[in-house]
Amino acid sequence: MKTHILGDGVAAMMLASRANELPEHDVSIVHPQGAPMARDHMLGFWNVDGLESSVACSRTSWSKWAVITDTGKSVMHSDKHAYHIMHKANYLQSCREIAERNGVAFIEENHIKDEEQSQTFDSRPPRASRNAMLQHFLGQEVEVDKPVFDASTAILMDFRVDQSQGMHFIYLLPYSSTQALVESTLFTTTVSKREYYLKAIEDYLMDHYGASITNVIHEEQGVIPMGTLSQHDANIPGLGANAGAIRPASGYTFVFIHQQIQRAIQATKQGKPLRFKRPHKAIDVWMDSVLLTVLKNWPSQGPKLFGRMASALSGDEFVRFMSGQANWRLRLKVIMAMPKLPFIKGVSKHIFQRSEKVVA
Ligand SMILES: Cc1cc2nc3c(=O)[nH]c(=O)nc-3n(C[C@H](O)[C@H](O)[C@H](O)COP(=O)(O)OP(=O)(O)OC[C@H]3O[C@@H](n4cnc5c(N)ncnc54)[C@H](O)[C@@H]3O)c2cc1C
Repeated sequence: MKTHILGDGVAAMMLASRANELPEHDVSIVHPQGAPMARDHMLGFWNVDGLESSVACSRTSWSKWAVITDTGKSVMHSDKHAYHIMHKANYLQSCREIAERNGVAFIEENHIKDEEQSQTFDSRPPRASRNAMLQHFLGQEVEVDKPVFDASTAILMDFRVDQSQGMHFIYLLPYSSTQALVESTLFTTTVSKREYYLKAIEDYLMDHYGASITNVIHEEQGVIPMGTLSQHDANIPGLGANAGAIRPASGYTFVFIHQQIQRAIQATKQGKPLRFKRPHKAIDVWMDSVLLTVLKNWPSQGPKLFGRMASALSGDEFVRFMSGQANWRLRLKVIMAMPKLPFIKGVSKHIFQRSEKVVA
């Protein structure tokens, strides 16, 4: 059957690169009308089963990663599940080459012909409700004036920055002792001005490394909506972020797009129709929504919360939790590590908000 994928981002191209596993589908990738200009950015993910071809595209990786707060530093470690980073543009290009060899067509939206037997999946971005929590950030790949970075350890979150606007941390991926991607990231309901992130990056490098930027190699910016999102168009079944792939409280999406596509392909092999489902377990979505409720209402708890979680888990456990592969024992370990009062307040507020919605 003719199968159009609206959008040519990560999910669409990942699926296109696996079109040979969908022999009943004649896949085409459709560049949507009104799509913004494609921009490269870095994509981070832990190496878990099934991501071998993505690992092959990665620029570099770290087997150690850290979470830092005012009160301490937790360093986690995993040789098996290193944290990888790749240029999105390289990944898309590599998928495109495989897709073209598989006979996938690339067309513009206004060139779609009316066909009786065709189906469309929509990978355009989902819509966030008003007042939704946003993960927003600006990152710069910089060179600094002295060798200060420890290239063996990626810093996932360093909370030693201004917390006055909401939960704020620096994500720092050191490529060498003088070169790193440094991102100022906030979880709030409104996006900040560009100058805010730039100053945060500059101040952080000076305050904690005594270093100044000498060269900006690349800059990227993003806004990832968190929590429950609506489909881009309720009438067209989704794919990727538009089919629930964004992990509600972390914004990590790449590994979940892989899980979503993997399960969809497996289902077609059992004779089921092609469909892309939300890849997260209901319990993980619930835990994430409580976490988001805490971060929205009591953002000052964020550093303690993530700091405790990082110090309680081993590297492998952390990866399993972040990649949606936690079992009940691990979830309980995460809950036990949380500061109790904010978590209990978060659960009650979350239940109260839900019952208000049901009554309304
Ligand atoms: C700067 C940045 C850094 C990120 N880093 C990470 C990371 O490290 N790890 C991670 O897991 N995730 C990360 N993400 C999230 C990342 O976007 C997703 O992992 C992934 O791109 C989602 O894939 P997708 O195919 O669902 O959406 P996209 O890749 O965003 O594709 C969406 C498609 O819709 C089209 N489109 C967009 N807007 C419109 C519109 N208005 N009208 C019509 N068409 C439109 C686009 O052209 C594209 O074809 C990051 C996002 C950004 C912006």
